[in-house]
Amino acid sequence: MSATHYDAAIIGAGMSGLAAAVRLSMYGRKVLVLERHNAPGGLNSFYARGRRKYDVGLHALTNWVPEGVKGAPLVKLMRQLRIRREELDLCPQLGSRVTMGGVSLRINNDFARLTEDVAAAFPGDADGFRRLDAWIAALDEASLQAHGGSARELLARHVSSPLLRDLLLIPTCYYGSALEDDIEVSQFAIMWRSLFHEGFARPFEGVRRVIRLLTDRCREHGVDRRMKCGVRRIEVRQGRAAALLLDDGSEVTADAVYSSAGAVETMRLRSDLPPDAGAAEAGRLGYAETIATYGEEAFAGFGWNDTIVFFCDAERFSYRSPAELVDPSSGVICIPNNYDYGPGRRLEEGWLRVTALASHDAWCALPEEAYVARKADWFGRLNRVARRHLPAVTDATHDGALVSTDMFTPRTVRKFTGHVGGAIYGSTVKRRDGRTDLPNLFLIGTDQGFLGVTGAMLSGISMANLHGLKA
Ligand SMILES: Cc1cc2nc3c(=O)[nH]c(=O)nc-3n(C[C@H](O)[C@H](O)[C@H](O)COP(=O)(O)OP(=O)(O)OC[C@H]3O[C@@H](n4cnc5c(N)ncnc54)[C@H](O)[C@@H]3O)c2cc1C
Repeated sequence: MSATHYDAAIIGAGMSGLAAAVRLSMYGRKVLVLERHNAPGGLNSFYARGRRKYDVGLHALTNWVPEGVKGAPLVKLMRQLRIRREELDLCPQLGSRVTMGGVSLRINNDFARLTEDVAAAFPGDADGFRRLDAWIAALDEASLQAHGGSARELLARHVSSPLLRDLLLIPTCYYGSALEDDIEVSQFAIMWRSLFHEGFARPFEGVRRVIRLLTDRCREHGVDRRMKCGVRRIEVRQGRAAALLLDDGSEVTADAVYSSAGAVETMRLRSDLPPDAGAAEAGRLGYAETIATYGEEAFAGFGWNDTIVFFCDAERFSYRSPAELVDPSSGVICIPNNYDYGPGRRLEEGWLRVTALASHDAWCALPEEAYVARKADWFGRLNRVARRHLPAVTDATHDGALVSTDMFTPRTVRKFTGHVGGAIYGSTVKRRDGRTDLPNLFLIGTDQGFLGVTGAMLSGISMANLHGLKA
């Protein structure tokens, strides 16, 4: 066997790829991780501008549960990766909400508060809401066989108010749906549990803490990790993924290949499929996000105490790729300062992140100069939309406190992760068992179907267990 032969080769050093690598290597497998980018973390990475370190996207780690709760996904994840709770340094949120049509529902790591708010604002739907919750509780949402079907239809069976249905769809779609205007039932159930029953937390250091724990574990278990080393082609011979051709022209072989590049993206790497394979399955949902930082003292005076605000200003919630560059009618506001970091710990600046639906094709059609100019326009517009949902601050006070701004678009996501169409949640078709038509090529991460940071790590773990350790 050549020195470049591995038990497992993993495409991508995002959350799913690193978690799969930890799991496989822990049991003695010889593992190689190949990453095209120069930084690990994938969609949830970080970058520096001067002294300031930006998380690429982290709003919250979902599935937070208090210490001592057994059997929760986050607890299983930590056990499987042998990460201790204190190492993750998870700090619970101060309080989030979803707001639309003059109604706000609390999402604050306590399902009882959400139930109370639903009963107060929608008394006629209180029983239906409880029945829906019981129906979801009976579903094995993390099964490798997805339930299938439309969450909108499920909601319509239990909840009569269209406004309440939208209020429940806004957070679940934004944090986990690859489908336009809907969310698949098992995925809805996963989000229901991870956002409403469990909740949000953040490591004080942000996503860097999670990435460092994973890369440290990889190192401890002897994983070979090659950065700036993309996979150019998966050579398919005799019905197997026989070798990986790398960007530098070299080749490696492995008994099994796990790809977190995405289902369509992985098809397009294969030597036996055309370069436009899988077009019908490509996802279309892209996000733009603005990031503003403020002087800490001035920011403290703003009174912006929410952790996350999901909002919709339109009459009906639309979750579609917009015809324009950005659809500002709904979105997510995140203020990372508003986690309970404990005594003596606070972020050095005030942070405001605003996320909204954005069109990949429209942003990519812009010439460079126009791209930069439209980003600046949309920064201002989204920032103003978000501020309407927060305690009022005059423009002069706001602008005087503003220290830095940044913004990403679906074009940025495509550039740094290779996701076709800059699609945040990947393909519209998920493959829960990770299998492809090749017996030694498996999908992990976004297109296996467990989304988000916690989901992606669980995906890497469960696919490594299923195909690498139990097989
Ligand atoms: C702006 C934003 C905000 C988000 N906020 C949150 C949040 O607050 N909470 C949360 O839970 N989730 C959040 N998410 C979602 C979460 O980041 C993702 O669901 C998760 O990180 C996906 O991990 P993954 O491993 O499946 O894929 P990815 O992160 O996409 O990783 C795939 C990796 O594969 C690499 N790759 C692709 N092709 C190749 C190739 N040919 N060769 C080598 N390497 C390749 C890519 O460079 C990438 O590093 C957010 C996402 C975004 C974009």
